[in-house]
Amino acid sequence: MNPISSNDLQTDPSQFPDLDVYAVAGNPIIHSKSPAIHRRFAEQSKQAMHYGRMQPAIGQFIQTAKAFFAAGGKGMNVTVPFKLDAQALAEVLTARAQLAGAVNTLWMKEGKLYGDNTDGLGLVSDLLGQGIQIQNARILLLGAGGAARGVMGPLLEQRPAQLIIANRSSAKADQLVHLFGELALSHNVQLAARSLQDLQDQSKTPQAFDLVINATAAGLTDQSPLAESALGNIFKPGVFAYDMVYGKTTQFMQQALHRGARVSDGLGMLVEQAANAFLIWRGADVTIDPRAVLLELRT
Ligand code: NDP
Repeated sequence: MNPISSNDLQTDPSQFPDLDVYAVAGNPIIHSKSPAIHRRFAEQSKQAMHYGRMQPAIGQFIQTAKAFFAAGGKGMNVTVPFKLDAQALAEVLTARAQLAGAVNTLWMKEGKLYGDNTDGLGLVSDLLGQGIQIQNARILLLGAGGAARGVMGPLLEQRPAQLIIANRSSAKADQLVHLFGELALSHNVQLAARSLQDLQDQSKTPQAFDLVINATAAGLTDQSPLAESALGNIFKPGVFAYDMVYGKTTQFMQQALHRGARVSDGLGMLVEQAANAFLIWRGADVTIDPRAVLLELRT
């Protein structure tokens, strides 16, 4: 699959009078795979649309997005660092977006700008698509930034037995526990916070995990959030280790592989969050095949 086409850089709806125009906005955006993914979904479902990429200057997202929608843009995906701006811009937020505290999908409907967050659904769809059971699982979620917060709601709704959030700054993990305490209770999930340092102490995580999700940005700089001395406590045989970073075998994935765990990067999450955005925009009755697109991206 060709990831970049020169047409991707065009996002002015007036240039495509016969097509519905969509875009992904981020900074930087040049390496985004979203245009290629949405192009394939449009081909699969025979939708007449154009999807481009745009890079608003830092501090200029709201102005750029307003101009895009005023010119007739139908919908937008939003990535780092604009998800909070997108949330502020949306006039109507889904419950999911409110819980996630960030918006990655915008669309115009009946004159109002709607905002949703499909990252969590994307993660859950990818895990289930890989045959990973979430219900009743013991889950360790590493990180407490935007990505971790975005996946908390959809993960809890799958009713795992336990969800432990561990972050470098433990106060941020505590905040997430506070924020999602009620939802966890309503789904009968045991929710708790740890620091990354706590993970080195087996008495603080006595039971084995089934699923370890790395939602930190450590992989981007070839680091892992897990110290060598924590690995024996975390990666027992049968564990599935998932890194949201994609496009490489991260340090975290290598640590897990060396201890016999099964691993995955986050490319499937990216494709599945895009699929959920596509269905919001084009209608749930449209037929697309995200797993086929994922396979094409991997070859
Ligand atoms: P944020 O900047 O909001 O949060 C970063 C998180 O990573 C914080 O918890 C931070 O800890 C932690 N962290 C960063 N560096 C290290 C390190 N060296 N060691 C330990 N912890 C570290 O980023 P996001 O939450 O938005 O994104 C996190 C990752 O998820 C990114 O790599 C992003 O690419 C990926 N992502 C992938 C998606 C997909 O579709 N596959 C979708 C969304 C995100 P602290 O709080 O202590 O600073």
